[in-house]
Amino acid sequence: MTHELQHWINGSAQASSGSDRSSGTNPATGGPTVDLPRGTVDDVDSAVRSAQAASSGWRYVASLERGRTLAAIAAAIRSNADELREVEKADTGKPDALLDWEIENSATYFDYYAALVNLPVGDVIDTVPEEHAFTRREPFGVVAIVTPWNLPLNQAARACAPALAAGNSVVLKPAHTSSQSSVLLARLASAAGLPDGVLNVVVGSGSAIGDAIVSHPLVRKVAFTGSVGVGQRIGRLAAEKVIPLTLELGGKSANIVFGDADLEVAARESVRGFLTNAGQVCSAGTRLLVHSSVHDELVARVAELTRQHVRGENLGPMITRDQFDLVHQYLGTAEREGAVPVTGGEAANRAVSGPGFYVEPTVYDGVDNGMTIAREEVFGPVLSVITFEDEDEAVRLANDSDFGLVAAVWTADISRAFRVSRQLEAGQVFVNTWSTASVQTPFGGQKLSGYGREKGIEGLLSYTQLKSIIISYAH
Ligand code: NAP
Ligand code: MG
Repeated sequence: MTHELQHWINGSAQASSGSDRSSGTNPATGGPTVDLPRGTVDDVDSAVRSAQAASSGWRYVASLERGRTLAAIAAAIRSNADELREVEKADTGKPDALLDWEIENSATYFDYYAALVNLPVGDVIDTVPEEHAFTRREPFGVVAIVTPWNLPLNQAARACAPALAAGNSVVLKPAHTSSQSSVLLARLASAAGLPDGVLNVVVGSGSAIGDAIVSHPLVRKVAFTGSVGVGQRIGRLAAEKVIPLTLELGGKSANIVFGDADLEVAARESVRGFLTNAGQVCSAGTRLLVHSSVHDELVARVAELTRQHVRGENLGPMITRDQFDLVHQYLGTAEREGAVPVTGGEAANRAVSGPGFYVEPTVYDGVDNGMTIAREEVFGPVLSVITFEDEDEAVRLANDSDFGLVAAVWTADISRAFRVSRQLEAGQVFVNTWSTASVQTPFGGQKLSGYGREKGIEGLLSYTQLKSIIISYAH
């Protein structure tokens, strides 16, 4: 008998107003996790109203006091790491080392924005002598945050910490199947002193309550992380209300290795770049563009390191059954279109059985940038190797994508590193690393990967609106 998860609204656990429920699944075992309510439009309304009621208090809490509360949430995340790890592991099946990193990183978001609460101040503007003109950055009021299932706690913290630091109140909707850590985060935040109603979590599926959240008249900004299709839908609804939006969508990131690169490091980081979280990372480096002179050696090294990933140890499962099926479809398509498996592949995956939604990590060689496997985001442990002959071709191939989230360049030539970095169409470019990017570095996309920035100072500013105040002392 699994226990029943509830919404977190107005500082306490709340049952859903509807009776519809489903069971969560542990992707590592296929077994049940928690009994999930299917939140209703009424639940959304109650969460938004609670956020709105709390907003007038929270936005006027002295900034340092807001910062102290955020720091207390960071401490609560660390001191409750065991419980967070347990629920996140049940919902996602991830290896412990990754969970530990995600929990620590989530606490770091609250630490970082706790320290920045005084940052969104304004400017004094010199107009005419008998005027004092200045700007203020103010919260929106109620912000809706919609997160995916790949890094549930981490994505919630990434958006909630700056939104709260800026003085907004929040309605958070995690992906239905991995809601537990978000509800626990809100409970910990309440216990740490966050006033009731400032952070609310609604448990429910996007198809049932997503539109109601975005369209709610009291919601004044939406931050969405997820797929392109849902991002476009939210964009249309937000346009009707003329509210701002941050969209963090998918990627098909190019990882470019030139002939002069340190191949040992490039191979190691390239494998980390496509296999972290079993590839269920929007910034995964899934297109390995390699110069023909080092192709054979790099591919051999990458394949060898890829084979060292063991399910249940340093490799987690696909987090949903749907994702597992989707990745298998992509393997079939890749091979029908002529991609050559170096390790893994469709047959290797069919041969493996056992519980859990695990996928054998797969490296495809001989990929043409026009193939489906090079164009669409797989969101699984699959790497496409594409060969190039010169720098121009590498840049052209990298930019020949609908997405523009991340890119990396591996070279010993500093001039080339600068030149290529500037030409790449991506929101962030790594040189001689596949950085997991710090909380301080702005993160976001170009093209179909989205717009707006999370993380860093820009992340905080995106949860504020600018007001100009002009005071005359002429009369
Ligand atoms: P998804 O289907 O777009 O879901 C993301 C979130 O949106 C979930 O909470 C989902 O709820 C909700 N949702 C679904 N339909 C909705 C609607 N009509 N209105 C409002 N919300 C709705 O994405 P996913 O398949 O879960 O996640 C994988 C995708 O996310 C990949 O494409 C990946 O690249 C992207 N992603 C991007 C980033 C980034 O930072 N750029 C980070 C992680 C993931 P339910 O799940 O409950 O239906
Ligand atoms: Mg989905």
